Amino acid sequence: MDKRQMLNFTVGPVMSSEAVREIGAEQVPYFRTAEFSALMFENERLVKEFARADEDARVCFMTGSGTASMEAAVINIFTTRDKVLVIDGGSFGHRFVEMLEIYEIPHSVIKPAFGHGVTEAQLAEYDGKGYTGFLVNIDETSVGVLYDIRLISDFCKRNGIFLVVDSISSFLCDPFDMKDLDVQVMITGSQKALACPPGISIIVLSPAAVQKVYSNKPKTMYLDLKLALKNGERGQTPFTPAVGTLRQIHRRLKEIEAAGGVETEIARIGGLAKYFREKLREFDLPFTIVSNSRPNAVTPISPREGVSANQIFLTLKDEYGIWVCPNGGDLKDKVFRVGHIGALEEKDYDTLIRALLDMRDRGLL
Ligand SMILES: *Cc1c(COP(=O)(O)O)cnc(C)c1O
Repeated sequence: MDKRQMLNFTVGPVMSSEAVREIGAEQVPYFRTAEFSALMFENERLVKEFARADEDARVCFMTGSGTASMEAAVINIFTTRDKVLVIDGGSFGHRFVEMLEIYEIPHSVIKPAFGHGVTEAQLAEYDGKGYTGFLVNIDETSVGVLYDIRLISDFCKRNGIFLVVDSISSFLCDPFDMKDLDVQVMITGSQKALACPPGISIIVLSPAAVQKVYSNKPKTMYLDLKLALKNGERGQTPFTPAVGTLRQIHRRLKEIEAAGGVETEIARIGGLAKYFREKLREFDLPFTIVSNSRPNAVTPISPREGVSANQIFLTLKDEYGIWVCPNGGDLKDKVFRVGHIGALEEKDYDTLIRALLDMRDRGLL
């Protein structure tokens, strides 16, 4: 294998481009400088552009994994006076529910069936019931289900509900227009389709969300977005950020821009997902794709009865040097996932398919 040393089809951290990895080998510069501020302004501009955010939207770069920004969004946007609807369709949705419990924010939970999105009828039950907020992980990465953002957006628009979207594994993968969809807060992270090391998560705030942040007083210092917004005005962060990762994000955003922008990247990732799913069919592998609403970032797969999904993950890792993404908990033996994000090409999927065919020949599938 080449010097990437592994072939990684997980959903994060994923493989990075050569240029992004080169930055990882450089010294980390001091950051209270005009040069770093200029880089951060460009990061903000490109994230806004790729999220199709309002011109007056703002971006906070948080040092912490995606969960830090999920928590920051919950406590800076909502208070105990809100009434929030949350979709709990997997481990990431459940994380939002736990946050609402910790901060004692009144909420109701919608639980979709395994492998399914939410339906218009399910949402209609909550029409006109005084909800003020909506929380959704638009790609529930844990089970590989993409919710219908248009349906959710329409529901929120007609009820005047503040919509907060965890788009951590969907940003740059699935079509998304923050302004058109009236999404007030969008969250993403460095180690998914941005294909950088973990360490930075990103919160895009609509003008209305910026106002809300300035009017709330969450009991936190590190996650107080007022500080992030204030410092962001001069291209800085309140505390020492993951400077190296922010430089890598800058390189990656510029790469995407140079290659044609967000549509091109979405088409590239969608193309890889399609390629892999077609190969599964072509070679008639004994697998079922267990989602009826598939995101571009990931394909969730169940092996046939009697074959352990976790054992497939282990065998691929230990005997073939290929990493797919295992599931945990109840799904450990039932589901593994194949990601389509990061520096991957069609030939990498050919390698994966060859390994799976070899495993089938060995009687392991
Ligand atoms: C990866 C991911 C997260 C963030 O998890 P961290 O481990 O905190 O980075 C949150 N939500 C979704 C939908 C994700 O895919």
